Parts: sequence; C-alpha cells; structure tokens
Amino acid sequence: MSVTTTHFKEGIDAIPQAILDRLTRVDMPAVRGIDASEQTLDITGVTVPVYTCESLVLGSGAAGMRATVELKRRGVDVLVASTGLFAGTSACSGSDKQTLYTASTDYKGDNFVKYAQSLCGGGAMDFSTAYVEAVGSIDAMGGLQYMGLPLPHDDQGAILRYQTDHDEAGRATSCGPRTSKLMVKVLFEEALTLGVRILPSCSGIQIVKETIDGEERVCGVIALHREEKRNAYGLVFIRCENLIIATGGPGELYRDSVYPHHCHGGLGLALEAGVKLCNITESQFGIGTPRTTFPWNLSGTYVQVMPRIYSVDADGNEIHFLKRFYRTTREMVSNTFRKGYQWPFHSTRMLDYGSSLLDLAVFLEQQAGRKVYLDFLNNPEPVNEGDDFSLDNLDPDVRGYLEKNEALEDLPIDRLRRMNPLAIELYRMHGSDLAAEPLEFAMNNQHMNGGILIDDWGRTNLPGCYAIGEAAGSHGVTRPGGAALNSGQVFGKRVALAIKRSCNDKVDTVVDTAVVSAAIEGALKDADQFLNGNGRKPKEIKREIQARMSDNAGIICTADEVRAGLESATALRHEVEANGLQASSASMVGQAFRWRHMVWVSEAVLTALDHYISAGGGSRGARAICSEAGTRCPDAKVEDLSRFNFIEEQAKDREEKLVVSRVGGGVEISSLPVDLTPEVQREFFEKGWGSYLIKEG
Ligand SMILES: Cc1cc2nc3c(=O)[nH]c(=O)nc-3n(C[C@H](O)[C@H](O)[C@H](O)COP(=O)(O)OP(=O)(O)OC[C@H]3O[C@@H](n4cnc5c(N)ncnc54)[C@H](O)[C@@H]3O)c2cc1C
Repeated sequence: MSVTTTHFKEGIDAIPQAILDRLTRVDMPAVRGIDASEQTLDITGVTVPVYTCESLVLGSGAAGMRATVELKRRGVDVLVASTGLFAGTSACSGSDKQTLYTASTDYKGDNFVKYAQSLCGGGAMDFSTAYVEAVGSIDAMGGLQYMGLPLPHDDQGAILRYQTDHDEAGRATSCGPRTSKLMVKVLFEEALTLGVRILPSCSGIQIVKETIDGEERVCGVIALHREEKRNAYGLVFIRCENLIIATGGPGELYRDSVYPHHCHGGLGLALEAGVKLCNITESQFGIGTPRTTFPWNLSGTYVQVMPRIYSVDADGNEIHFLKRFYRTTREMVSNTFRKGYQWPFHSTRMLDYGSSLLDLAVFLEQQAGRKVYLDFLNNPEPVNEGDDFSLDNLDPDVRGYLEKNEALEDLPIDRLRRMNPLAIELYRMHGSDLAAEPLEFAMNNQHMNGGILIDDWGRTNLPGCYAIGEAAGSHGVTRPGGAALNSGQVFGKRVALAIKRSCNDKVDTVVDTAVVSAAIEGALKDADQFLNGNGRKPKEIKREIQARMSDNAGIICTADEVRAGLESATALRHEVEANGLQASSASMVGQAFRWRHMVWVSEAVLTALDHYISAGGGSRGARAICSEAGTRCPDAKVEDLSRFNFIEEQAKDREEKLVVSRVGGGVEISSLPVDLTPEVQREFFEKGWGSYLIKEG
C-alpha cells in the first residue's frame, strides 16, 4: 500500500479567509443563566434572594472556567457568578500570537526542573509552585486540546513552538491572536455540556465569613445581580462552602493600560475580607494600542517585521525620535525586532542600547505629549546619513529568524502578511487597516504578576477561599510570556482537586444566619449611603487613581514620587471612609462598591512599593527605580539619560514575597521567605500510590 503525503508549499500567508475569520472572529456559545432562586431572606423589610452551592466560582475567564469544569467533572456542585461572562482579559485581550507557555512536546521533550527555573528565576516565587505549574502544564494543554482548542501541531503530533519573553527554551505556542478567547470558548462549551449552573451579570461585592470552632471561614458572597428586581439594588446572597476567586487582574488601576475596560479584579474584595495579597509591586508594562482605541499587545511579529517608528507633535510634524537613542540603523531595527520576544519593559534591557531603550524612548515621547506610531508601509528611516535600512544589515539572530520564516519581503506589511496575516486581520476587524494607515501605540500597563497569596493548592489564608488566574499572586517577578494563561489552567485543576479532597472529610455545618443577615444589612446600608450620600462620584475617584498610578508608579519610579503617590492615596482613602461615594442611581451602586475597593488596592500597591524602595529595593520586573545613588545608567546616542540612573536589584529581594494585609485602619506589609532551591521530592510508585488512593477517597 502506498501512502501519499501532501506537502504544502504555501506559507501562512496563503491561508483562506474563512480560516482567518474562524481564528479572529470567535463566536461564543449562547449561555442561559439559571432561574431566579425562590429562596429569600427578609432583611429589615428588604427581600434578598439566596442561591446555594458547594463551590462558587467568581469570574468566568479562562481560569475560572477551568476550575468550573474540573469541579463539575469531580461531582462538586458548582455555580459560576460573573460580572461579564465574556468580559475580562481572557475573552477580550491578545496579541499577534497570544501565547500559552507549556512544557514542550517537541523533539526530545522538556525538562521540568529547567522549566520551573524559568518561571521562578526572577525570584519572589517558590520553586515548588513553579514546578507544579511546569508539570501541570502537560495536562493543562492536553485538557484544552481534548475540549477542542486548535493548537497547531506537526504531522507527528508535536505542538509547534517559538520563543517568548524570559524564555530560553522556546516553550511558547499559540492559536493566533485569540488564544485565550478560544480557551474561554472551549471551556464554556464543556461547562454547558456538563450542565454547570451560571449566574451572568452578577458581581461579588463582599465576602461573608462565619466562625466555626473558633476559626473563620468563607460562608458566602454578597453580590449584585443585574437581572434581579426584588430589591432596588439587585442584591443577592450566594451561600457557598468554597469560594474560588477568579476575577482577573486590576486593569482599571492605570490610565495608560492595555487591559480591556471594566477589569477591576478582586483584590479589594479579598483585602476587605482579611485575605492576604503578595507581590503586588510586580506588574508588566509594554507597548500596545491604548484603551482609547482597541487595546491590544504589540509583541511578536508586529515588531519582528521592523515597521518604521515615528512620533507626531502638536503641529503635525513627524519625528524620527529613535535616531536620538540608537547609534546605527542596524542597532535600532535589531532591537525593534527583539521587542517581539523581549516585550515587557525591563530596566537592564535599557542598558547597552538594548530593547527597553525603545520602551524608554516611547515613554518620553508620550510624556512630551507626542503621539507615537508604527508604520507598516515603510521601512525604518536611517539613524545616520547613508546608513539605510537593509535586510542584509541585521544582527545575526534577527536575520536568521527572518530567513527561517522565509520572511525577507521588501516592506514590513509584506513581511507581516507572510509571517502572521491573522495579526493584520485582527486590527482590520477593529477598524485599523495596517495595510493602509499607521497605527498609534503607547507604553501601557498589561498584567499584575502579584495578587492574592496562595499556596501550591490555590488556598488563601482564609479557609474555604481559593484564588486562581491573574487574581492569584503566584507569578513571580519575571514570568515568561504565556505563563499567566498556563498558571490559571493548572491552578484551576488544582483547586478542584483540593476541594474534592476536602469534601471527602467534610463535616456538615449550619450557616450562622445572624452573621449572614448582619453582613447583608451592612451592605444594604452602604448601598443606601452611596445612593443618598454626597461623597465624590466613582468616575472622579477613578480618574484620580488612574492618573496617580500611571504618573507615580509606572515604569520609571523615584522614591519621592512613590511616597507622594502613597500620601495622596491614603488621603483619598480617608476621604472615602469619611464621606463615602455617590451613586447616581440604584443601578449604579456597583460602581461605588468597585471603586471603594480600588481605593484600597491602589493604596496597597503604593504602600508595598514604598516599603520595597525604602528598604533599598532596586529595579526589577517592570520598574526602574531611579535615583542619583543608582549605579547603572542607560546610554543613548545623543539624548541625556542621566536622570534615569537606576538602583540595581538586590539579590536578597528574590528570596522573599512581600505580603500585604488590610489591618484595622490601614495596610500592613510583611515578608515571607521563598525557597528557590530546585529540589523535587521523588515519590516511589507503591508508596505514593497508596497515599494517592486514600487522598482521592
Ligand atoms: C493585551 C494583553 C495580552 C496578553 N497576552 C498574554 C499572553 O500572550 N499570554 C499569557 O499567558 N497572558 C497574557 N495576558 C494575560 C492573560 O490574558 C490574563 O492574565 C488572563 O487571561 C487572566 O485570566 P483570568 O481568568 O484570571 O481573568 P479574566 O479573563 O480577566 O476574567 C475575569 C472574570 O472575572 C469577572 N469578574 C471580575 N470581577 C468580578 C466580581 N467581583 N464578581 C464576579 N465576577 C467578576 C470578569 O467579568 C471576568 O469574567 C495578556 C493580557 C493582556 C491585557
């Protein structure tokens, strides 16, 4: 029998439009929420509906939906409540090839210890957590493939890979610009097949705790449900034994942000309930299109095709600003290319004319009030006279990459069409034709690596309360691109395992209705106060917080600016405590609750940052801590950058997490040592098998 193999000669640029559409215009399944609960509580004459479940998942991004599916498969009664079913970063964000970072199945396979070291190498993350994510990545990915995630693979079945940020091994893979949206889609389809109960348009505003045998634990969540009409605010109580916070990151903290709108996260909710946070000093910033247009990350091929970069001043003059920073055209374009896989800003990459010198240059143009553009129709302008851009004059890694991908077309737009037509399609879908006009971009906040403090099972310090995905603070200082999505999948499964195990030895408890009633009464009073009060409006508070965070706690920080930011943040919190906030109608009280939380979150981030800098903490992750006492300074061809003299990272800071708690009237910082030793306890089969069977029950 003869076997015929078809070899496709065409590159990715030959893909039919229907396939491009399927990967960019992702249709989400129709979801029907559960019927209104008939169970109610009467709280001082107000009817409050009550929903009951074993496990409540708050948030329906990729992380929350993975936990949901894994819980349901294990027979746990799970309910999902979410502000926006297809809102949040998983459903709405992406990049040229939105990345999933998993153990490579390619060629000779992977080394989990090395993988784990790539996750925790930047410090502030235990090796054990990193190892759990490394080992769990195989199942995270396999599960998604089983549910229908179209990850590209070769004819032998090995997933296609490329290199991403902080990734020496090339563990990245992608379904295209919309990887996380496709993840949400397949997870929702699975959840619907499994018959999961879902409460759409329902936002948790307060965690309720009860005390059992002297120990506080979760007993439910007070939420606002947009469909609920039995009281003025749509307030409901969801009784649960376990709460999984999967509310994503606090994208609304910054003005200059590439998060989709309305990402508030759950850090304020957690802090208010005494749940500890960690590493909230750690974020990612990089280039992207701003929220005022279509928020999208500009990593990967968008920059690897080396478009012309320029700014425009108030009089409409075009400025080739990068020529003041880089010494030669080759240096400038090779570092533009490297932004593809060195996407987040990092202080040390400003040195030696590296790729973050470009970030700094863009940041300075923005500060000077000029708009910055990527032009895919023209090659970069020369840095020096006669030093024209040429594909024959690139650093070897850059030239090699383009050669391997057969992308040596004359113009950036043709190189992009060759390497990633989906990247063009995506912007076209959102009203920008890269083949016809330049694209405005900026330095933006994109991700919070810190969040709720969890252990290796996703447990927080509050019994019954778990956190996963971007809400969790498990990502360390320099996570490789794609590790965030993987972490949400791995911990989505781990919390399900932990909850299932805890169900096996569960003791039935009776809800303390007096505690619940008192909590609901308090929330109703707050809502009344927001409606009738004369405090400031949430949108004013939002404007103030976002401006302060972007101006005082962005990529360039000084001790004085952070301290000044903290003082104003604390003053704002005192003001909100004294005067409350003002909601324009009963349906708007949710905004007031959310911005009261954000007041605390912003103060918490600034307190942690101030503490870190005061203790001598240097530049790491997303921020350069600038000071005259700094020992490193970026150079530029003609620009004076001496004011960006920065303090270097202290090795000892890698060995701890900064823990943040809300205590009494303020924010308290402590630290927790982390263990970076790459040691794995090996279990022998028969010994480990027995204990596994007992734990699983
Ligand atoms: C532009 C951009 C590009 C990115 N690219 C990558 C990448 O290539 N690789 C990678 O790994 N990561 C990337 N990330 C990060 C990654 O997308 C996120 O960390 C991840 O999607 C978060 O998933 P999540 O499920 O934790 O939260 P989300 O997807 O944000 O979901 C949160 C959910 O919680 C709901 N919610 C919020 N508050 C409440 C509440 N109080 N009550 C009820 N529901 C609530 C929201 O409506 C939403 O449904 C990128 C992020 C951005 C912004």
